Amino acid sequence: MDVGFLGLRIMGKAMALNLLRSGFRVTVWNRTLSKCQGLVELGASMGETPAAVVSKSKYTIAMLADPIAALSVVFEKGGVLEQICEGKGYIDMSTVDADTSLKINEAITNKGGKFLEAPVSGSKKPAEDGQLIILAAGEKELYDAAIPAFDVLGKKSFFLGSVGNGANMKLVVNMVMGSMMNALSEGLSLAGSSGLSQQTFLDILDLGAIANPMFKLKGPAMIQSSYPPAFPLKHQQKDMRLALALGDENAVSMPVAAAANEAFKKARSLGLGDLDFSAVHEIVKVAGSSGEAK
Ligand code: NAP
Repeated sequence: MDVGFLGLRIMGKAMALNLLRSGFRVTVWNRTLSKCQGLVELGASMGETPAAVVSKSKYTIAMLADPIAALSVVFEKGGVLEQICEGKGYIDMSTVDADTSLKINEAITNKGGKFLEAPVSGSKKPAEDGQLIILAAGEKELYDAAIPAFDVLGKKSFFLGSVGNGANMKLVVNMVMGSMMNALSEGLSLAGSSGLSQQTFLDILDLGAIANPMFKLKGPAMIQSSYPPAFPLKHQQKDMRLALALGDENAVSMPVAAAANEAFKKARSLGLGDLDFSAVHEIVKVAGSSGEAK
């Protein structure tokens, strides 16, 4: 099966590599073209533009930063629209809002192509391990055709109905995650400032009803102020922003998420956007106290 892949950074590189290793013939493109090199050395072909990738592929997957990136690879010169046609599919796995997805869907289907949005839950390690959770919506025929690829990329895929449902589900999930990350940061700071061991605090959390893999994975690194990017903070803030807009649209009051968004925004304004989203801990520490155990 000839599959295209657009966007080869933290998530896309690992996903494209898994497809290649599983026997798919993969044609790749990245805005910074030099990022294709590693995959080309492992057997991928390279397209000079998104359109060139689409022309060679039965369906093309995109894993891009945000709505601006998702729209630009479709609509700009050399974009997906120039080559998409009947018999071809386009699967956008980036996290975007439903409006962005709907615009892309309309343009692709007007050209006779099939469209699926399929954002993912899971981060760098699940992407490397093929353990993502895929939240697909759109053309069911394309979903069925993409199952072999989704089986490689993820541990479970959901088909959620019409375009927009996948985007919205992803935003709801990440809204909760962003709020939880802020709560953990405040807990670590409060424990430290109260003279308690932050590691013991994490150990206690991990044994109880609010234990979760995110606290377990990120907590110890946060104590060390270590934030190697798995999920960049700028993307988490984008997701909070889009989730809050969804709340506006539906008149859902979300004061906890709004406060969490402010902390992520503050972190971005201080230049922490390219660090992991757990770096929001730096903001909470500054706002509260040193966070050091007495
Ligand atoms: P990333 O490492 O920041 O990569 C972003 C990609 O988008 C790069 O390939 C970048 O190209 C491309 N890009 C940015 N602006 C562009 C533009 N205007 N035109 C064309 N390409 C553009 O992000 P990531 O962590 O892989 O995440 C990708 C998507 O998955 C995001 O929507 C994110 O929210 C979502 N997601 C991420 C995670 C995670 O843990 N990392 C988990 C679930 C979902 P260049 O290389 O040229 O900059």
